Amino acid sequence: MHSGCQVQCTAGSLVEMTVRQKIISILETAPVGFRDLAKQLKISEKALADHLFHISRTLKSRQKRLVARPFRCLACGFTFKDRKHFAKPSRCPVCRSTRVELPEYRICRQG
Ligand SMILES: [Zn+2]
Repeated sequence: MHSGCQVQCTAGSLVEMTVRQKIISILETAPVGFRDLAKQLKISEKALADHLFHISRTLKSRQKRLVARPFRCLACGFTFKDRKHFAKPSRCPVCRSTRVELPEYRICRQG
């Protein structure tokens, strides 16, 4: 038994691992909104978006999946279905409204 990564990682990335593990355990329990999650972890929304991106890649190898409801425009109902990253869209491409609903995230088992 060996823990290769933990030995090689710097102290800085070990701290990040802990935040990601926290996010995973929270989202496995119940779906949480993007902003609530950032508040709960006391990190910026930008940092959270970055963590979620890495988590979604990590989970693929564990038969789990990070599921997000897509961002939706509250003014016209447009959904950002093709969005590839986790940062909040600044405005709706259809009606230019900035009232974009924040998504909820959860973690599901695959298959
Ligand atoms: Zn719109």
